Parts: sequence; structure tokens; C-alpha cells
Amino acid sequence: MEDCIFCKIVAGEIPADKVYEDDAVVAFRDLKPQAPIHLLVIPRKHIATLNDLTPEDEALVGRMYRAARAIAVDLDVAESGYRTVVNCNKAAGQVVFHVHMHFLAGRRMGWPPG
Ligand code: AMP
Repeated sequence: MEDCIFCKIVAGEIPADKVYEDDAVVAFRDLKPQAPIHLLVIPRKHIATLNDLTPEDEALVGRMYRAARAIAVDLDVAESGYRTVVNCNKAAGQVVFHVHMHFLAGRRMGWPPG
């Protein structure tokens, strides 16, 4: 999508500190980290919100989690722990409308989340 900032990151049109990419998924460091490790795992395909997923995206969602798992091993937080979060729409705090999984690690996480 033309005016989507995450599509531009996927296309390499704006810079991002990428830590992982494959044919379906890209992961990069969040500009405003909320934990020592705060990444965003996104599909290359533009999907605005979780509400917009279709049955044909089921494998893609699996690919996002598979990427998160690989990143956790790579960054050595698989055993200590990490959190994945997907915000959907305004009440949840979604501000970028291209589906993204927050990957947070490196500190103790509180519950319930704010
Ligand atoms: P959400 O509130 O779930 O939509 O999260 C959007 C996240 O994207 C926020 O944590 C922002 O800090 C992050 N963000 C926005 N623009 C960029 C960018 N160009 N590079 C990296 N992270 C970004």
C-alpha cells in the first residue's frame, strides 16, 4: 500500500534496523522500544488489522510466530521468556495499520498489560 510506513520498510524505501527477514515476514527494531528488546514482526503482505485476516492468511500468521520463535532462539531469550502482542484497532492502541506483532524481551513483563 502506497502510504503505509511498514510497506515502505518492506520495500526498503525507508530505513529500519532489520533483524530477520524471509519470503513472508520481516522483523525490525521498534523506534520507541518498550523493553531492552522490542521488535516488530510484520508480514510482507499489507493487511491492515487482525480483523482483515482471511482464511488464506492462516499460514502467514503461522509464519509470523515461526519467525518470532527463530528470533527468540537467535537472541537467546527463548528460555528466559518473551512476549508477543498484536494490537487491533484504537482501543488496543494500534497506530500503524499494517498487522504487526510486538516482540518484547529482556525485562520482567507485568500482567495485566496496560
Ligand atoms: P501499534 O501501537 O501496535 O500500532 O505499534 C506501532 C509501533 O510501531 C510503535 O511501537 C512504534 O514505535 C513503531 N513504529 C512506528 N514507526 C516505526 C518505524 N519507522 N520503525 C520502527 N518502528 C516504528
